Amino acid sequence: MSTPFAFRRRWRRTLPVVALVAAACGVGIAANLLQPAFAVVILLALVAGLAFQSSPPPAPAEAPPPAVVPTRPRVEPVASALVAALPEPALLLTPEGDILCANERVALAIGPARLGDPLSFLVRVPEVLEAVHNSARDGIPRRVEFGEKIPLDRWLEAHIVPLHLHGEAGMTSRGGRPGLPDTVLLTFRDLTQQRRVEQMRADFVANASHELRTPLASLSGFIETLLGPARNDTSARERFLGIMGAQARRMSRLIDDLLSLSRIELNAHMRPETQVEVGTIVGHVCETLSPLARDRGVELKLTRTDEPLPIYGDRDELIRLFENLVENALKYGASGARVEVTVGAEGAQDARTAVISVRDFGPGIPPEHLPRLTERFYRVDVVASRDQGGTGLGLAIVKHIVARHRGKLGIESPPGDGATFTVRIGCVSKAEKIAS
Ligand code: ADP
Repeated sequence: MSTPFAFRRRWRRTLPVVALVAAACGVGIAANLLQPAFAVVILLALVAGLAFQSSPPPAPAEAPPPAVVPTRPRVEPVASALVAALPEPALLLTPEGDILCANERVALAIGPARLGDPLSFLVRVPEVLEAVHNSARDGIPRRVEFGEKIPLDRWLEAHIVPLHLHGEAGMTSRGGRPGLPDTVLLTFRDLTQQRRVEQMRADFVANASHELRTPLASLSGFIETLLGPARNDTSARERFLGIMGAQARRMSRLIDDLLSLSRIELNAHMRPETQVEVGTIVGHVCETLSPLARDRGVELKLTRTDEPLPIYGDRDELIRLFENLVENALKYGASGARVEVTVGAEGAQDARTAVISVRDFGPGIPPEHLPRLTERFYRVDVVASRDQGGTGLGLAIVKHIVARHRGKLGIESPPGDGATFTVRIGCVSKAEKIAS
C-alpha cells in the first residue's frame, strides 16, 4: 500500500522526466510539428503512467552482520594434559592474558588459579604481565626474573612462550588473528636454591681469601722489617721469625681444611662402605690429644661402653670429626679444666645407634650463636678463634662428615654449664653383618 509520503517521493522522482517531455512538446508546438491538444494528451498520459507505476520492489535489506557470540575460550584435552604433565608451574593464557588452564603446581607455588580470570588476579608482578602482553602481540618468547619477599623470600623465573595452537591442535581463543599467537604458555622456575648456592659460593671465596690475606699481609710486613730496620737486630729477628712461622702454619691449616671440606663435599652423597668400630676410633683420638690436654691443664676423661659399635665409616674422616670436637673442647673450654668424652649406644638390640658426646665445662656458647655454629667461617669470637689457631672451618667439616655417615649432630650449651657436642650414627645391623 502507497502512503502519501511514498506517493510524494515517487512524484519527486518523476518530475524531471515530465519537465523534459513538456519542454520537448513546447518545442514541437512552437515548430508546428505538434498539435497543442495532442501535446496535452501526451503529458497527461505520461504523468499518470509515471505517478501510478508500481513501486520497484524494495532492495533487499543488507543482511545484518552475524551477532558476535562471545565464545568461552576452550582448551582441547590434549593441551591441558600437556600442561598438567609439565614438571613446573604452568598456565595457558589467551592473548588477552586470561587463564585458559593451569596445572596443579601453580596452586602450590603461585596461588589458586581460576579459569577465565585475568592473569593479574594471580600474578601481581608488572614485569611478567607486561611480558605476557608483549609476547602475545609480537610473538617473541620472553624470560623475566623477579624476587618476592612475601609470603617467602624467594627468586622466580617466568618463561613466556607465545604459541600458534589454533586449528590443528584444536585450540580456539578469542580474537584469533592469523599470524599472531593464539595462546601464551607461562611457566615458572624457582631460582631460590640456585641463588643461595651462588651467594654461598661468593661468600665462601670472599671469606677464604680474607682468611689467607691476613697472615700473608703479616708475613710480607715482617719480611720488609727484617730486610730494613731490623736487619741487624738479632733478638727482633728471632721474635719475628717465630711469628712468621705461626702465620705460615695458620695458612697451611686453612688450606688443609679447605681441601678436606671440598673432598668431603665431593663424596657427600656416597655413604662409606667399610665397617669400623667407632669406640676404638674415639679412644685413638683421645690418646693422640692427651699431650694437648696436658699442655692446657685440662683433664681429658674417656668413658667407653664395652659393647662393640660397628658402623659403616671412613676411618680418616671419623678421626678428623672427633679430633675437631675434642680439640675445640680443649681450646675453648680449657677454663673448665675438664673434658669428658663418652661412647655409648641407644635403641633396640637390632637397631643400635652409637652415641658419642664431648663435653667441656668452659664458658659455653651463647644460644643466639648455636644455629649458625656449623656454617663455614662462623665464629663466636673471631679474635679468640684466631688466637687458638682456629680456621672457622672445623665445625663445618664436622657437620659434613656426620651427614656423609647418615648421622646427626647435636649441640647443647645451657648457660654457665659448658658445651656438649653429641654425634649419633646408626650401627651396622645384625642382618647387614651377616650379609657382609
Ligand atoms: P675454629 O677453627 O674457629 O675453632 P670451629 O668451626 O671449630 O672453628 O668452631 C667455630 C666456633 O665455635 C669457634 O670459633 C668457637 O667460637 C665456637 N666453639 C666451638 N666449640 C666450642 C666449645 N667447645 N666451647 C665454646 N665455643 C666453641
